[in-house]
Amino acid sequence: MSSKKHWSPGSDVAVQSVERSESGGWIVFGVLAPNGICPDCGLHSRRRHGWRRRRLQDYPAHGGEVTVDLAICRRRCQASACPRRTFSDQIASIAHPFARRTSRVGEIVSHLGHAAGGRPAERLLHRLGLGLSDDTVLRQLKRCAHGAAESPTVIGIDDWSWRKSQTYGTIIVDLERRVVIDILEDRDVVTCTNWLKRHPEVEVISRDRCGLYAQAARQGAPQAKQVADRFHIVQNLRQAIEEQMNLHGRATGRALLSDADNLAAAGSLLKSRLAHRTSREEIFATIHALRNQGLSCSEIGRRTGFPRRSIAKWLQFETPPDRRRAALKPTSPWYFEEFLSQSWKEGTRTGSALFRLIQERGYEGSQSHLQRLLAGWRRAEQQGSRPKVEHKILKPIRDPETGHAISPVIAAALCIKPRGKLTPDQARKVDALKAGSPAFATMRSLAMRFNGILRSRQADPLPAWIDNAIETDLAPIVRFARTLNRDFDAVKNAIEMPWSNGQAEGQVNRLKTLKRAMYGRAGPELLRARMLPFRHTD
Ligand SMILES: [Zn+2]
Repeated sequence: MSSKKHWSPGSDVAVQSVERSESGGWIVFGVLAPNGICPDCGLHSRRRHGWRRRRLQDYPAHGGEVTVDLAICRRRCQASACPRRTFSDQIASIAHPFARRTSRVGEIVSHLGHAAGGRPAERLLHRLGLGLSDDTVLRQLKRCAHGAAESPTVIGIDDWSWRKSQTYGTIIVDLERRVVIDILEDRDVVTCTNWLKRHPEVEVISRDRCGLYAQAARQGAPQAKQVADRFHIVQNLRQAIEEQMNLHGRATGRALLSDADNLAAAGSLLKSRLAHRTSREEIFATIHALRNQGLSCSEIGRRTGFPRRSIAKWLQFETPPDRRRAALKPTSPWYFEEFLSQSWKEGTRTGSALFRLIQERGYEGSQSHLQRLLAGWRRAEQQGSRPKVEHKILKPIRDPETGHAISPVIAAALCIKPRGKLTPDQARKVDALKAGSPAFATMRSLAMRFNGILRSRQADPLPAWIDNAIETDLAPIVRFARTLNRDFDAVKNAIEMPWSNGQAEGQVNRLKTLKRAMYGRAGPELLRARMLPFRHTD
């Protein structure tokens, strides 16, 4: 029967006959072409031992299910040294060992599962004449989930929530190839560190400003450059401006620390930095002067008390080498100041609770160290509650045209918007804000400079910007500048490198959609299978 040729489950199968099955589908009887290679010793065997039948689900035909009934030769291995007595011919070209359907059906099933999820895929497949349960679809899909084939060099790390503000997972994105590389079940320094250790090829890590991923990157991928997220930096600046603008006409907008405290702290920081810089410049000048008198390095060393090698190094430069900023380390609770202050505002105030929370984020210091920081805040708050240090409340600033007070949120958004992008209405508000609030004018000029730095992709003016921001004496701006300083290298990279975490955030949105479409019942393995790009491995 010539029509038999059209029923081909694969090149190695000779079709013998096709029959209707009792259920209305088709059964294709075929014989697998003999190959006779023993899987253990690899030698060829001609001795037939018997036959074995295998049933495989194949592409449907005419709306009916198709089952391939395959006769497979069983052979006896003739090699005397081989431990195997008998073996069946392999059918790798058609199906995996132990599979119940042909590979080509398996591929369709996992494609549909990847795109649509278990239940919808089950319905579609049923309609196409492939009766399978949703469990089978998901099992097939999980089997096909693999990590990225190419090793990633530029990655973005972000978190996503299993249950909002309760449990979190981690998503890792290849920023160059724009694909998800992995989904981690939790948001944990150890898990992330281990993942990074398994990927020593990573060169750049873009992460949000949550200390946890920074910590994991330091431990797991010390070779990689860290990049802070530009979007979040700008957002934090906007929030700082908003906080400052809250002072206008808001009785409740008291700062967490009394402003006096904040300013004192900032002032001393600034002074110490300036002092340090001056003294370095003086030393540098002295060394060069002594050199000009013709003294040797060792002689200069004896006179100034510096090691000879440092002097030799310094003499190579025209100006003092820029000292690497002393970045705060995760052993200091100040490293987590931003997070702590947020939790403090939300009412978590016991040392032990906060200790646990920052430990989860990578804090390596002691609880008593944290308590000292908190004690400062408690003191500041008690002082704040005394009537004599009453907060001054400024008059709200009104839009001259409408007479409405301009809200701090609007003011902050306008503050960071370049003039070229303002509508006439907005420009009018900005002018009113500048006239009514010297703080706004200062912050606007800072914000415009910051925009300029971000746009120019040159981080050189950033240290000066940080100094000037600290000099403003506006508590929220000072705090913002201090956080920038703390994360200086990552911020610098964010300005100078093209990478940002925007993609990771986009993928988090996709993940949320998938998670909801599966009614929140998907486990990590399934989420991972559906988030990772689909790659069939045959
Ligand atoms: Zn053998």
